[in-house]
Amino acid sequence: MSKIRVYELAKMLGLSNKDLMQILEDLGVDVKTHMSSIDAETAQIIEESLGEPKTKDKPSDVKEKGKKVVNVPPGSSVSDVANLLGIKPADAVKALLEAGKMIPAGATANREILDILSEVFNAEFVVADSAQEEQEKDKAKSQQRKKPEGKNLQPRAPIVTVMGHVDHGKTSLLDYVRKTKVTEREAGGITQHIGASTLEYNGRKIVFLDTPGHEAFTSMRARGAQVTDIVILVVAADDGVMPQTVEALNHAKASGVPIVVAVNKIDKPEARPDRVRQQLSEHGLIPEEWGGDTIFVDISAKTGVGIDQLLEMVLLVADMHELKADPTVDPRGVIIEAKLDRGKGPVATVIVQEGTLRVGNIVVSESSWGKVRAMIDDRGRNLKEAGPSTAVEILGFNDVPSPGETFKVVGSEKEARTLIDKIKQEEKLAASKTERHMTLEELYGKM
Ligand code: GDP
Ligand code: MG
Repeated sequence: MSKIRVYELAKMLGLSNKDLMQILEDLGVDVKTHMSSIDAETAQIIEESLGEPKTKDKPSDVKEKGKKVVNVPPGSSVSDVANLLGIKPADAVKALLEAGKMIPAGATANREILDILSEVFNAEFVVADSAQEEQEKDKAKSQQRKKPEGKNLQPRAPIVTVMGHVDHGKTSLLDYVRKTKVTEREAGGITQHIGASTLEYNGRKIVFLDTPGHEAFTSMRARGAQVTDIVILVVAADDGVMPQTVEALNHAKASGVPIVVAVNKIDKPEARPDRVRQQLSEHGLIPEEWGGDTIFVDISAKTGVGIDQLLEMVLLVADMHELKADPTVDPRGVIIEAKLDRGKGPVATVIVQEGTLRVGNIVVSESSWGKVRAMIDDRGRNLKEAGPSTAVEILGFNDVPSPGETFKVVGSEKEARTLIDKIKQEEKLAASKTERHMTLEELYGKM
């Protein structure tokens, strides 16, 4: 009999995982997490018993007269909603306060908040959830449409960046994961530090970028090279939310990268994991168990408590976002580390995002090019080819490229040279423009 995961069914029915799990419990169906599977028959019973989809919104054909209909994009904050309504954010916050909710303007406007605002300001919100679902449907449709055109999309491993405030345990978490989840003696390889670690959990791969912190992330984003699929936001349970926690979550949000919160140092007696949940809720990251949609996992990077569950949740989020890539198209990806090795020459670690990179390919980044002489993975193995979500060290670049540069494969060395020349000329032009611009600014500053 076919099976369906709880979160998949929840998505289909327009319910939160929490609500669906409650319904299942009421029906006496035993499920542990939203990752659990139930059989198709049970799913159908639930679907039928619900009748109409359980959304609190009115169907669009019974819109009341005089109501302002406002489209709210997913993840909008209270102040975003205020702007959409044409009111001051402060007035929205005041209205919420009067309704007994102390919610900062920067918090994400969830259904409850929208309900209050719609009452007070006589507006109807087209829900974020349904907008998101529509988007996902559209995406699925366009993917289906693309298939006949030769798109060969295949599931790929998630690429994860660990972020958080200094001393909250980013390095410890990465170390723990590397030590316990990367099999060192496999295929005669010894773990090599190449800038990314690939681990296997439940037979599935997860790629961790070894450099924690938001700098690498920001510099990549600034270049438009988004390599991270999921951010693990580490917050120490004793310390709570700190300035760099907020910075990190803002970066992730701005890039639209999903966040899984790892509440670390849970082994400490002074740990207050619920305070972390409370504090992050004020920044719009509302825990699933409180009716929001952010996954929180209590962990200890010291004892290893909760790490398995954290990895499971990373895979769950990866599933929900249906990460896919086409291994058959022209290869492209991002440089994540590069250095000059005395013996080997320029060495660059890249992550392949699309296509399959092969030894002998001619690669061009934004500042360098070369012919791939060898590819070595994080277990010291020589690879002949590297598909999507594979991190490999490449030998063969003529110069050392910078982290964050994107690369692609071209047909000939001549093409590579022409492309690099063009990029360099464009850069020069852009630089001279900024220079002039800055001089003017300085002038104005002095006037
Ligand atoms: P980073 O600056 O975020 O990379 O933090 P580190 O991984 O360097 O950790 C900072 C300090 O916290 C170190 O002394 C770690 O040993 C300690 N630490 C990290 N994780 C845990 C944990 O889960 N429990 C306890 N008790 N200490 C931890
Ligand atoms: Mg560190």
